[in-house]
Amino acid sequence: MTSSRPIRARIAPTAILHNYRLAKRHAPQARAWAVVKANAYGHGQWRAVEALCGEADGFALLEAENAVALREAGVTQPILLLEGVFSARDVRAVIEHRLTCVVHCLEQLELLVRNGQFTAPVALYLKLNTGMNRLGFTPETLAKAWAILQQLPQLDVTLMTHFAEADGERGVGEQLARFQGMAGDWSGPVCLANSAAILHHPQTHGDWVRPGIMLYGASPFAEQSAESLGLKPVMTLESAIIGVQDLVAGDRVGYGGTFTADKPMRVGVVACGYADGYPRHAPSGTPIAVMGRRTKTVGRVSMDMLACDLTDIPEAGIGAPVTLWGEGLAGSVPADEVASAAGTIAYELFCALAPRVPVSTDENPTVNRK
Ligand SMILES: *Cc1c(COP(=O)(O)O)cnc(C)c1O
Repeated sequence: MTSSRPIRARIAPTAILHNYRLAKRHAPQARAWAVVKANAYGHGQWRAVEALCGEADGFALLEAENAVALREAGVTQPILLLEGVFSARDVRAVIEHRLTCVVHCLEQLELLVRNGQFTAPVALYLKLNTGMNRLGFTPETLAKAWAILQQLPQLDVTLMTHFAEADGERGVGEQLARFQGMAGDWSGPVCLANSAAILHHPQTHGDWVRPGIMLYGASPFAEQSAESLGLKPVMTLESAIIGVQDLVAGDRVGYGGTFTADKPMRVGVVACGYADGYPRHAPSGTPIAVMGRRTKTVGRVSMDMLACDLTDIPEAGIGAPVTLWGEGLAGSVPADEVASAAGTIAYELFCALAPRVPVSTDENPTVNRK
């Protein structure tokens, strides 16, 4: 039985499909891995896979178990393991289920070679460290990797790298130059671009791109809104007003009394707190919508509640609908704006959606609301 506490997250699969198509329009020559790691950035792996399975060129995620579950559910497209194998069992899964596998260091390559019977071609993504300094081969270890790979003709290799600043001022130039230097006269397939590079750096598109955050309707750029990029919001977090307080000047709100009314005010208490995944660091002034009107939060976010200013929304009483982020009947608040107010990014808000929040799939947003 779902709880009657009013908080809900709604997911719009048609918006995921729209956003995937937008990625493809930006990179029309490339195929695209729909990145569904981390439970599809908090949106539900199966919801995202179902939304895209008629169209995605492939799916990218982390755990071999999840990849196998996709195969068992009938997904026939390529599936990419973004961090490669962690164990001999993963190697067997890669071979048995024809998974595409990142290899980012010699130890991992040896794990594959030791545990794999390469009787059919296995698709490997050799990951090059071009400046992010997280995962990937250096020019020295890459030479050793090529030597090992010479002995395995049954491999189908793609070169990949990951950009650290495709969304920022430095861009991709330095990393792209290093990639080209390391690739030498490589003429096989390459895969470089995340959402930011898909949208801003067409010279990186290569043979495959890897859209993640853009599928979920948030912007990879601090300075450019998702809407201006043509992205549609996918997750809407909504709740309702469960308490109203009339304040006089000098009254404080919430733990720590961090907000003080400077005039008479009407404050609404919303059934949503940090235990629902709302960021505790969102300060007073974070945007929120009530009954179709934008307003601001006041005071500290507590575990199960937060407060907002209803002074200019006198029609909003107990039960009034609230949109915390996304596009709801109570109004529209880009997740990027909430994230930026809280000093984080929409990626983190989405991934932090708490298990206690009931999630529903929106087939038809104007009809199918509970
Ligand atoms: C998560 C991830 C992506 C997707 O990045 P976005 O910024 O969400 O588009 C692409 N490539 C790799 C290797 C990743 O881990």
